[in-house]
Amino acid sequence: MSPTFPLDPRSAAAAQVRATLQERERALRAEVEAARQVGRTDPSAVAREVRDREEEAEAQVSTGINDAEIGRDVGELREIGEALQRLDAGRYGQCKDCDELIDPRRLAAEPFAVRCTRCQGVREQAQRRI
Ligand SMILES: [Zn+2]
Repeated sequence: MSPTFPLDPRSAAAAQVRATLQERERALRAEVEAARQVGRTDPSAVAREVRDREEEAEAQVSTGINDAEIGRDVGELREIGEALQRLDAGRYGQCKDCDELIDPRRLAAEPFAVRCTRCQGVREQAQRRI
C-alpha cells in the first residue's frame, strides 16, 4: 500500500522517511566535516574515511572536494532539516511554496524535496539569474 501524503508523522511510512533523512543527514555532515579537514590533513586519508562512511561520496572525493561542493552539501543539509521539520509537523509531501502535494515519485527519488517540481523549477531559474 502506498502512503498517503502529507504523511501522518506517527505512521510507519513517516518513520521510514525519517530514518532515511537522518541517515543522509549523518552522511552529509561527515562529508562536510571531512571536506573541511582537507588542507589540514592528507586528502587521500580523508577520501578513504569518507568512502567508508558514505559510498555516494566517492565520486566527489576522487575529484577533490571544493567549496562549491561543500556549499551544495550544506544546502542539502538545510533541505533535509526542513523536510524533517515538515515531517514532524504532518506536512511532509506537501509543497512548501504552493501547498500542492509533491509527486510521490519525486519524493521517492529525493526524500528531502520540500517543493513540487514546478515550484522547484521556478526557484532554480530564479537562482540562475542571480
Ligand atoms: Zn509547489
